[in-house]
Amino acid sequence: MKRIKLIRGDLTRMEVDAIVNAANNSLLGGGGVDGAIHRAAGPELLAECRALNGCATGDAKITKGYHLPAKFIIHTVGPVWNNGLHGEPELLRSCYKKSLELATQYNVLSLAFPNISTGVYHFPKPLAASIAIETVKEYLKQNKTPEELIFCVFDEENYSIYYELLNR
Ligand code: ADP
Repeated sequence: MKRIKLIRGDLTRMEVDAIVNAANNSLLGGGGVDGAIHRAAGPELLAECRALNGCATGDAKITKGYHLPAKFIIHTVGPVWNNGLHGEPELLRSCYKKSLELATQYNVLSLAFPNISTGVYHFPKPLAASIAIETVKEYLKQNKTPEELIFCVFDEENYSIYYELLNR
């Protein structure tokens, strides 16, 4: 069985142990996938997030999933793309790595990622996808969990980029 799956759909509907949120430094909600997660999880999520005192770019923090099918939400803060000379690729790599480490720590067997930073943070989609896939593959090679990893893509462009990279 393949450990990495590509699914086009809404992350908030994924029936997995944990989903990853592309959050911002405040962890208090925002637009895009972050807004969708807060709406679907309910106000209890915001209350737990307030106690976390934000999150640094490239780092990750975990909360419960509340009204989501997912038991946990791993909140990570991707870099805002700003010409690529400000450590953006390394910070994005760190988001995936730290999220995976938290997942292992919490015994998460199935984990779903969105395409971190590729929305309003404007990270170039092909580069973001290759960093995501490379980082995940390397981690899965060295760790038994998560057993199942889903790249949950929302837009057509990311879907074809991931499809190409995962199937060649
Ligand atoms: P960022 O600020 O990290 O760029 P965004 O939420 O703006 O975060 O975008 C990240 C990615 O999440 C984008 O590729 C966007 O298409 C995708 N996205 C938006 N809503 C959802 C959703 N409900 N489920 C999965 N992915 C989503």
